[in-house]
Amino acid sequence: MVSYEEQDKEYYQHIIRNLNDRGVQLEDIAEIVIFLERDYIDGLDTEVSIYAINKVLHKREAQNAIMTGIELDELAEKGLLSGPMQRIMRTDESTYGIDENMAITLASLYGSVSVTNYGYVDKLKHGILSKLNDKSTGKINVFLDDLVGAIAAAACGWLAHNEGHVQEMLNK
Ligand code: MG
Repeated sequence: MVSYEEQDKEYYQHIIRNLNDRGVQLEDIAEIVIFLERDYIDGLDTEVSIYAINKVLHKREAQNAIMTGIELDELAEKGLLSGPMQRIMRTDESTYGIDENMAITLASLYGSVSVTNYGYVDKLKHGILSKLNDKSTGKINVFLDDLVGAIAAAACGWLAHNEGHVQEMLNK
């Protein structure tokens, strides 16, 4: 039997590989975190932001949402979905909304700060999010753009709820 810790490692590595393959580095997500926290955490750097992002990427409920969303994007890109779903994903149909729901579910694991932050960056299409939203590339990122925004927002929630630890890391 595979232990919980082994599964965690497997899921984490799978997610990192998938993100990288789809053009997203942890530094890109950290850039969104720093942007969101610019008025709240003095001197927040990439290292501490990535620390918070990794906390999120090791949470099982977050891992499940991320793996599911990216899998659907990849299947759609290969044309492997059936009729209406393939069209919904190909055209990124604006009334579909399950991508946003999944992102809100992920963000809400870290409280209301994360949910509101997700909505904010989703509207702004800040940083890597505008690249992921570019439909001219032929890539299908229906879920990925929302998930990346939600990971950044969730990391902000983690930072907000672990202020002492964060200050310790920044003062080192
Ligand atoms: Mg989307």
